[in-house]
Amino acid sequence: MALLLPVLATTGCNQSNSAPVSPKAESSPQSRQLKVVATFLPMYWFTKAVSGDLANVEVLVPPGTEVHEYQATPKDVQALAQADVLVKNGFGLEEFIENTVKNAQNTKLKEIEASNGIKPLQEISPVVKRAEKVDNDHNHKAGNPHVWLDPVLAIKQVENIRDGLMAADPANKGAYQANAIAYIQQLQEIDRQFKQSLQRYPNCTFVTFHDAYPYLAQRYQLKQVAVVEIPEDQLSPTDIQKTIAAVKQYKVKALFGEPGVDNKLLKSLSQDLNLTLRPLDSMEIGPLDPQHYFTAMKTNLQTLESACR
Ligand SMILES: [Zn+2]
Repeated sequence: MALLLPVLATTGCNQSNSAPVSPKAESSPQSRQLKVVATFLPMYWFTKAVSGDLANVEVLVPPGTEVHEYQATPKDVQALAQADVLVKNGFGLEEFIENTVKNAQNTKLKEIEASNGIKPLQEISPVVKRAEKVDNDHNHKAGNPHVWLDPVLAIKQVENIRDGLMAADPANKGAYQANAIAYIQQLQEIDRQFKQSLQRYPNCTFVTFHDAYPYLAQRYQLKQVAVVEIPEDQLSPTDIQKTIAAVKQYKVKALFGEPGVDNKLLKSLSQDLNLTLRPLDSMEIGPLDPQHYFTAMKTNLQTLESACR
């Protein structure tokens, strides 16, 4: 971190020295700050971590709102109309964004797709086949979107965001690069911790009610059995049957629910199955601090360890 401040300071000076020659000279100083809109929380964290205070970063999906069912508002259209850059996860997660971008009619808007170059996972064995495939097909038509939950793929996302910001704002290239290095080092460290700890529990199998962990499971040789694709308030009788069948079929170590949700049905189901119900954080909801990624991942690692032990 000690390296960061001098870099930021130097770049700031360079920018003000070289600005007058460019055609942008007539614009006011604050309009020179890059306006970036990120779709939802992890994209906001990664963008904010790379941009620091150099860009004005906004998030479209409020951090307490579920991204999967999000509907765009007129305010979102307005934000995109004024933005220089849009950062999105991709893989069909941000369905609401297509029409919103169209409606914003911003021809100068640059889009960064953070999952660019990542090979999407469709399904990972053993996974319960999705019975409602026809209904829900639009949600995952480009593969499972939850790539940010694998720290190694999160690094790729941060690199894509870094490259996009550097292209959109070349004057601050060095600072974006330095900020990205610092955040990527933290991601490498969390990956190292996951690897070191979870290699003791190969093929540890867990049931989730949100198909959010196939990338994480694949990375650390765990097995996710997703009974439900997207978190729901009520489990259907079919979901319950699928859970019981999965527990019979596989050596399931735990059931994972959503943090902060008191699901009484899941609780009694876990008691019936003699399995502990634990919260696992998909990080779609949380505070705006980019450091929260690491706090939440450390808690997830503890949860996985105590489940797989
Ligand atoms: Zn999700």
